[in-house]
Amino acid sequence: MTLKERCYPFAHMIRTGKEEGIYPYFRPVTRTWGPEVDVGDRHLIMVGSNDYLGLTHDPRVREAAIRSLSSYGTGPGGSRFLCGNMALHEVLEDRLAAFVGKKRAIVHTTGFSVNLGAIGCLLNSDDVILCDREDHYSIFEGCRSSRAKIVPFPHNDVEAASRKLAHAVQKHPDGVVILITEGVFSMSGDVAPLADFARLKKKYPNLWMYLDDAHGLGVMGPGGKGTAAHCGVTSQIDFIMGTFSKALASIGGFIASDDDDIIEYMKHNSKTLIFSAALPASNVATVLACLDVLEEEPERIQRLRDITRQVREGYRRIGLAVRESETPIIPIRIGPEEKAYVFAQELFENGVFALPAVFPAVPKGQAVIRTAYMSTHEQRHIDYVLETVDRLARKHRIRSVDLPESEA
Ligand code: PMP
Repeated sequence: MTLKERCYPFAHMIRTGKEEGIYPYFRPVTRTWGPEVDVGDRHLIMVGSNDYLGLTHDPRVREAAIRSLSSYGTGPGGSRFLCGNMALHEVLEDRLAAFVGKKRAIVHTTGFSVNLGAIGCLLNSDDVILCDREDHYSIFEGCRSSRAKIVPFPHNDVEAASRKLAHAVQKHPDGVVILITEGVFSMSGDVAPLADFARLKKKYPNLWMYLDDAHGLGVMGPGGKGTAAHCGVTSQIDFIMGTFSKALASIGGFIASDDDDIIEYMKHNSKTLIFSAALPASNVATVLACLDVLEEEPERIQRLRDITRQVREGYRRIGLAVRESETPIIPIRIGPEEKAYVFAQELFENGVFALPAVFPAVPKGQAVIRTAYMSTHEQRHIDYVLETVDRLARKHRIRSVDLPESEA
C-alpha cells in the first residue's frame, strides 16, 4: 500500500464530515475574551477550555509574562541541558516542589514530554506498569517507550488493580512495579481513589506510585494543591506530575519527587528534556504569577467549585446522567459518535463552544461532549448554556434514561 493509499480513506472521512457541516475540530479561534471567544464573526461562550481559573487574561499574569520578555527574550535558545536553562526555571522548580509538597521538581516544555520522558527513562523491560485504562495517551506513550510490561486495569477499579498487582509482584520479583493514574480524569472528570491506591503500599511496600495531576492542579485540594492533597496522601505518592496548560494559564509541565537521586537521574536521562528546547521565560513567569494569584485569591477556587456544583445540578434537572465529582469537567454523555458530532455542531450554531470527545479519547460508542467550566464564567453564561443544553437534549432525546442503569 502506498502512503497516499494509506491516508486516502481517512482524509475522505474528514472531507465528508466537513461537507456535512459536522466536523468540529481545529476551529480557528480569532480572539479570546476569557470565557468568551470569537471564531470569525461568531461570538461564543467557551465551555471546553482547561483554563479553569480563568487566569489566561488576568492582568497580573499577562504583565508578568511581558516583563520576563525584556530580561530573557522570546525563545530559550536551546534545551535546558545546554544553553536554555534559566534561573527562572529553577525558581519555578523550587516553588512547584513546595506547592505540591515534594522536595524537588523538574520543569519540562510540555506535560506530554514529562510523561514521555520520565516514564520512558525510569523504567525498563524488567518492570511492570499498572495503568488505569482511561489514563492519558501521553502516559501510555511513556510506558511504551520504556518497554516495560503494561498492565491496564479497569477505570478506578482498586480491586482489579490489587489483583493484577499481586500477580505482577509474583511474576517479576526483581523488577520495579509502578502504578500510574490520573488524579482527575481529563474526559470524565472522575477523581481517582488515591487513598485506596495508597493503601496498597501497606501490603506492597515496594510499589511505586505516579500521579498525573494535569487536571487536579490549581483545582483540587486546599489552595489548589492538587488531588494528592485533596485525598491526604501526598507523602505516599512518589511522583507527582502536572501541566501548566490547564489552571496555570501557560504551557509546560513538571515532575516532582522527594528523592534527590531519582531527580538527578531523570534530569540527565529524560530524552524529552535533553533533546528538546526549554520552556520560554514568558511561560515560566506566567506560572509563577498564577501561583501568586492562587495564594492571594483562594476564593477563585471556591467560585469554580460553586459554579461546577450549580452546573451539575442544572444538568441533573435537565435529566442528564452526571456522576458525582467536584471537578469542573462535566461530560454530557451522548453515546454514538455521529450523534455527538451533530450535538456539538448545534451547540456551536447556538453560541456555545464545546467539543465532542470520541474514541480513542473515550471508549468506542461512548462519545461525550466534554464541557468544562471556569471560575470567570458569569451567571448569564451558565444560564444561557443550561438553557441551550436543555433545548438540544430534548430535541435529540438525550436523557439519563437512555443510558444503562449502572451508568445513569
Ligand atoms: N496528562 C493529562 C491527563 C492531560 O490531559 C494532558 C493534556 N491534555 C497531558 C498530560 C499533556 O499535557 P500538555 O498539554 O502540557 O502537554
